[in-house]
Amino acid sequence: MARQVAQAPIRAYSYQRFSSPSQANGDSLARQTALARAYAEQHGLRLDEELTYRDLGVSGFRGKNAAHGELACFLEAVRAGQIPEGSFLLIESLDRLSRDNILRAQAILTNLVVSGVNVVSLADNRLYSEESLSDDPLGLIYALLVFIRANEESATKSMRARQAWTRKREAVASKVLSTRLPEWLTLEDGRIVPIPERAELLKRIFTDAEKGQPPQLIAEALNEEQVPRWSINGPWERTTIAALINNRRVTGALPLYEFVYKRNVQNRLPIGVVGGYFPRIIEPEVFLQVWSICSNRRRGGSAAKRNVFANLLRCADCGADVRHRPIGEGGQQALVCAAASIAHRCDAPEHSYAALESAALAHLGPWSAEGISWVRNTDPGGWRNSRGAPYRLLGNAALSLHNDRLRSDIAQRFPDRIGEGPSLADYMTTHLGRRYLMNDCSTLVSAAATGLSTSRTRVNTNAALRRMFSHGTVDLRTGTCTLSCGSAGSIEIRSHT
Ligand SMILES: [Zn+2]
Repeated sequence: MARQVAQAPIRAYSYQRFSSPSQANGDSLARQTALARAYAEQHGLRLDEELTYRDLGVSGFRGKNAAHGELACFLEAVRAGQIPEGSFLLIESLDRLSRDNILRAQAILTNLVVSGVNVVSLADNRLYSEESLSDDPLGLIYALLVFIRANEESATKSMRARQAWTRKREAVASKVLSTRLPEWLTLEDGRIVPIPERAELLKRIFTDAEKGQPPQLIAEALNEEQVPRWSINGPWERTTIAALINNRRVTGALPLYEFVYKRNVQNRLPIGVVGGYFPRIIEPEVFLQVWSICSNRRRGGSAAKRNVFANLLRCADCGADVRHRPIGEGGQQALVCAAASIAHRCDAPEHSYAALESAALAHLGPWSAEGISWVRNTDPGGWRNSRGAPYRLLGNAALSLHNDRLRSDIAQRFPDRIGEGPSLADYMTTHLGRRYLMNDCSTLVSAAATGLSTSRTRVNTNAALRRMFSHGTVDLRTGTCTLSCGSAGSIEIRSHT
């Protein structure tokens, strides 16, 4: 594009919107940010991340975001000439801009484009600019279609599911849908038949599960008896057994799914079940009984409710997951190497869970506490600590691990600002910085002060640890735990039993 020949890099702004506040916890923001960065890099644009227009938790439906949210600020800034002509507004898809009725939605788009803003929908890589729309007026029609669909999304979704279901049900009658059969079945003269010894094993697994045995114990028993795995080598794992007892194909049913793309994420949408498609190995009543036993167990708590280190620690000996066992050998809660407990592939011993939990809190609390009682500054989006000294943040021991990472982030994204002290502090006032610094540090501080008395505090502390540290290992022999911030460094915690 001719405009890009100009010396100063063309600016790009990112507009991100979630439909509900809870989405802020999920991947939505990360995904939208990544898409925007990739586009800016690919097209030589300078993504202005300080001015990211986010309407956190403001629904685009009924144009709330255009009227009141930050999109209104952006439109205002465009009208006031503060956004340079030729700038890019990067959005994940047009339904992020507005889910309002199409007249108002297209008015927002038109306003932006006529004001000289190039709007890019990243999901389908479409550019809406004055130039592109006069070259290809059908682009506007396309935009209208996207707006119409966004406005009628739920209706569209259920209708499409119904249509797909009809199509697939017709197809089932005439041909084998998928050549990939479940592992306990095979194709013989064009007919699907069970593999006898596998069918037997499947029945046994369900019998054990019906008696209340959890998948982990079933896997341990099979490994004890050296029963070979079906399609791959290696020991039976808890997850393999769990997948089998959740697989309704064992009853002969064929579940049908449609893959629906919603906001650029693929969702598997169940659209129905064809009964009697496969040979029946397990009676449906038995399957349902086992399924309800297992789902009750799942509801009993995600791992983090009991184990603040869930999904964080690996065994220093072998690298396998370290898991929590409610009643260990000594009758106390224990941390165990998954490879040691399931397959006896590792001989790391158990370690007291309580000892490591209290050692970690005692260490991390003071480590996080220094200088984090911050107050919101009058400067919009700015945070200062209570002493009004932004640079003191940089001295916080808890942040020092992040400093290197933040510095290299800044060097990449703001090459012209490297070497300036304030830019680091500025960066820390962004949403990402705040999230790391404020929430996670104070979560650790209060966990250290009050202990992890409820499953909720344990879950929150676990989430903070997993954001602050990329991974950790624990030597179960000595109880020495290393928590790592990737290339930025690591800290060591010793627990004595
Ligand atoms: Zn191990």
